[in-house]
Amino acid sequence: MTTLDQVTSQEAIALEDKHGAHNYHPLPVVLKRGEGVYVWDVEDKKYYDFLSAYSAVNQGHCHPAIVNAMNKQAETLTLTSRAFHNNVLGQYEAYATEYFKFDKLLPMNTGAEAVETAIKIARKWAYEKKGVKEQDAQIIVCENNFHGRTTTIISFSNDEGARKNFGPYTPGFIKIPYDDPKALERALIENHNIAGFLVEPIQGEAGVYTPSDDFMKQAKALCNEHNVLFIADEIQTGIARTGALLAVCGNCTCEGHCERQETYSRPDILILGKALSGGAYPVSAVLADDEVMHVIKPGQHGSTFGGNPVAGAVAMAALDVVKDEKLAQNARKLGELFRAELNKFIEGSSIVKLVRGRGLLNAIVINDSEDSSTAWDICVALKENGLLAKPTHGNIIRFAPPLVMNEEQLLDCVSIITKTLRDFEK
Ligand SMILES: *Cc1c(COP(=O)(O)O)cnc(C)c1O
Repeated sequence: MTTLDQVTSQEAIALEDKHGAHNYHPLPVVLKRGEGVYVWDVEDKKYYDFLSAYSAVNQGHCHPAIVNAMNKQAETLTLTSRAFHNNVLGQYEAYATEYFKFDKLLPMNTGAEAVETAIKIARKWAYEKKGVKEQDAQIIVCENNFHGRTTTIISFSNDEGARKNFGPYTPGFIKIPYDDPKALERALIENHNIAGFLVEPIQGEAGVYTPSDDFMKQAKALCNEHNVLFIADEIQTGIARTGALLAVCGNCTCEGHCERQETYSRPDILILGKALSGGAYPVSAVLADDEVMHVIKPGQHGSTFGGNPVAGAVAMAALDVVKDEKLAQNARKLGELFRAELNKFIEGSSIVKLVRGRGLLNAIVINDSEDSSTAWDICVALKENGLLAKPTHGNIIRFAPPLVMNEEQLLDCVSIITKTLRDFEK
């Protein structure tokens, strides 16, 4: 038996294929080490990571401050369950609620769990505060959403692969088109049992669909008007990815978190995950003010690992990094540069239709049929040229490097990307 260190790419892939469930189709690269914006494969080839584990590694791979916090806590106390208190959880909750300016935080582990938590809170709020008749609460969601993989969440997905043969589905969801405030208003007028509107400020998995600038503001205003909770899933867009601490901060350019009314569409429920830990550990959270969060009483919701001390220590360190290293500002600046450079290329290109995104959450749309393998082939070629990215739905490639990248590295990446794309021009 080969040791962990000695396995080749081919062997590692063969082992997964033989012994692992086939629920993913990864790019054929086997990584063994990461540092900052770089990862290395088992043959020691170095790559730029242009996915960042779906925006979980915003702070860069193995950030020393995060790893130190994790190691220190792991040597001291890892898990108590919530049957007892631990000395980190309260400090973490105080830190994070001050950071994001909400009264309360409910700790979970994965993104999907946090979305489930938000759905449960919204339903309970509808019955106990809004006066909706029990069993009648509805939640409005958007077409082409991605909120995770649980049975309830896939019930309101319209990705056939994610849904088919996993029914019966959970009822209680109304789907409207994305970026369509008129449709939202119609749904709110037609139905008086609405608990919440669950929305991604930018649809990441769907292909980085970036709505019109005032969609969040209008959605928030409509929710207010109809006494409906505005629920933002910022698991992918949050924590500086889009050039602001949260995507619902809009085009606000302040560092850190302000509450400028004119730009900030403050959610009633904020859902975070992914980069909340900088990719070191599964940490997710739901934030809300007292009048919403207080509908959950002891024994009504929980998780064995949720709120464990390692998670708390890791999340505080990860959020410190975002602030200390001004990652939102960097994402905004480099994002503008990235789109400007790619637009220059696209002017003379027949293979790329457009680039879109905000901050360092971007995507290009390939000029080929949706079911062609062009995007996949381009990603394989990018890998050969030292940059890792992955197609999302159809012929779309997402580009989301760690936010600790510098300008020189970004321009190096632009040159790898444009050189690779040029080989695919017809
Ligand atoms: C990744 C993601 C989720 C699910 O998070 P998991 O940790 O994979 O369960 C939910 N919503 C959005 C917007 C995401 O990007």
